[in-house]
Amino acid sequence: MAQQAVSLNEKFEDFILSFKDESGKKVYEAQINEILAYRKRSFVIDFAHLSVFEQTLASELLNNPRLLIPQLEKVLYDLIVQRDPSFRDDVEKVNLRLVNIPRVVELRKIRHTDVGKLIAIEGILVKQTPIKQRIKKAVFQHTLFDKESGELIEHEIEWPPGDEEMGEVLDAPTECPEHGKGGQFKFLPEKSKIVDWQKAVLQERPEEIPAGQLPRQIEVILEDDLVDSARPGDRVKIVGILELKQESTPKKGSRAVFDLYLRANSVEVSQKILDEVKITEEDRRKILETAKDQWIKEKIITSIAPSIYGHWEIKEALALALFGGVPKTLPDGTRIRGDIHVLIVGDPGTAKSQLLQFVARIAPRAVYTTGKGSTAAGLTATVTRDKQTGDFYLEAGALVLADGGVAVIDEIDKMREEDRVAIHEAMEQQTVSIAKAGIVAKLNARATVIAAGNPKLGRYIMERSLSDNINLPPTILSRFDLIFIVLDTPGEEDQRLASHILSVHQSPKRLGALDPEFLKKYVAYARKYVQPKLTDEAKRILMDFFVQLRKRSAETPDSPILITPRQLEALIRISEAYARMALKETVEADEAQRAINIMRIFLESVGLDVESGKIDIDTIMVGRPKSATAKLSKILDIISELTSSGGCAKIKEIAKEAKGQGIDDVTTNKYIAELKRNGLIYEVQPECFKKA
Ligand code: ADP
Ligand code: MG
Repeated sequence: MAQQAVSLNEKFEDFILSFKDESGKKVYEAQINEILAYRKRSFVIDFAHLSVFEQTLASELLNNPRLLIPQLEKVLYDLIVQRDPSFRDDVEKVNLRLVNIPRVVELRKIRHTDVGKLIAIEGILVKQTPIKQRIKKAVFQHTLFDKESGELIEHEIEWPPGDEEMGEVLDAPTECPEHGKGGQFKFLPEKSKIVDWQKAVLQERPEEIPAGQLPRQIEVILEDDLVDSARPGDRVKIVGILELKQESTPKKGSRAVFDLYLRANSVEVSQKILDEVKITEEDRRKILETAKDQWIKEKIITSIAPSIYGHWEIKEALALALFGGVPKTLPDGTRIRGDIHVLIVGDPGTAKSQLLQFVARIAPRAVYTTGKGSTAAGLTATVTRDKQTGDFYLEAGALVLADGGVAVIDEIDKMREEDRVAIHEAMEQQTVSIAKAGIVAKLNARATVIAAGNPKLGRYIMERSLSDNINLPPTILSRFDLIFIVLDTPGEEDQRLASHILSVHQSPKRLGALDPEFLKKYVAYARKYVQPKLTDEAKRILMDFFVQLRKRSAETPDSPILITPRQLEALIRISEAYARMALKETVEADEAQRAINIMRIFLESVGLDVESGKIDIDTIMVGRPKSATAKLSKILDIISELTSSGGCAKIKEIAKEAKGQGIDDVTTNKYIAELKRNGLIYEVQPECFKKA
């Protein structure tokens, strides 16, 4: 064994001093100089280099890292110090970090046979504690009475003795290396050797989780210069030694069942956003071929949730959100998002959830959640506390986990209070800032939000403004680029809807639509390789539309603002997304025109003032009661007034009160019928009403 150890050390030294990479450069020899020059604390070795150069050393490192890594670190340190002895004064230890190791284990497939081995795990860092200090070597003051001399002996000892390091649990010495058992030991924290320490939790990537299962997690310990090398929400590859979690020194009767954790050796943060979707050369050819179809945009839109009947505009909006516009960074550093946020508000049972689930399947990097959030972190981020250890964690929520992809949020109206505040920043600046329990952080949330919500009164009431209909403030609503309302209106469409649903149930196959897996690749390809630019013509068309609408609002006295610069930015993004659908590098007149059309449909569907027939963006966003809405809510107020002391409000009394407020009998009757139909009031006795 000793002999072998010596030879491994020599092999390692040989590798560092003589390995040359493909370009003939002695990369590790060069790294020693770098370490000396910058007083760095880590030496990084590409495992592929080591495997080629010295197979036995490589496999021994994989199988026996607990012993071998510290041993080689000493060899390395000696090599460095030989060149410059003064290095010893600045850096006490150089870490040997290994990247690119071949043994990549899926979080779900970790087994006991991996314990003590060097493995790599890929995942998302979901939470981490602030940086703490771990005691590597404790110093204790040993006090004992020496019977022979009759004197009190006081001296300091290091614990644990020898090369060993303290684990996560602080053990007191059981005996003194010099004097054996007996006496008292007093811990001297200020004299002990410490190292930066941080605990993080790594979770499976959403696309790896089998349908219907909860994501698996593993704890990771990061030390020294690895602390804060990744942030919650980052996709990482962590190399480390798999260890058993030692709760404390075993006592009699303590549990023999342990959790596992990863003691990190190296952390790589993935910068590449869409590499989760593999696109082969053949895929690429097929994608380029498909894009040539002159009806490609329509084809893509029909391929969105083909089993859902109708809802063409919504499917179009969802397709736009999937492709997205191009983010821009202004010369002053301000970033304008390219993500197109889409909201669907509507009656229950109108396939909103189904549409969302489909999108989550197609989006290359999607996180599906509900407004309540599937974890404690909710939609943005939070600080949580570990019940057992009391450690605080910064935990990333859905929008942070979806960074670089799509956050699909069902029932967004039910989101938590904290998220209501933080989501404003997340949707526009695309960051999440948090300052709580001593943790101050800013996380990236560059995600497209595709959300659905139910009306707060059960059904959508057209006569009321959007913000009166959904439990979301106008400030959040105004951050959506496109909003659609789905009404469940019984009528002539029913026959076709029914036969569509029945035929889907009979043979769940789509006709003429693109295969979802292929669509996913197509979307990933477009987002990665196509960055369309506006042509002058497209610019002019968008500008004319914007200016014209703004002008119309200026001409009307006492007019609401028709359109704001937000809508112009949305129009630009939307037209870019249309170009991306056809893999076009330029946005032309056609795309600009389409963008205007869908924006119109959105504005009309949510903001058309029923009585004046004008588009009124204020109604959508701010919810200022316009003529009809004002009257309707006046009548509702009258009814609650009249019934405030119990009983119901007679139609005659309501009409009398209403007349006093300038509403004629015919209108009153119309609105009472309306309120009754929408279920806002009900008829307790004939012609006598009460608020629901
Ligand atoms: P929501 O989330 O809007 O309340 P769901 O998505 O849960 O509604 O839809 C309820 C059911 O009705 C689903 O099984 C859905 O497939 C079906 N459904 C509703 N509208 C349609 C439609 N237009 N085409 C096909 N199926 C529909
Ligand atoms: Mg639903």
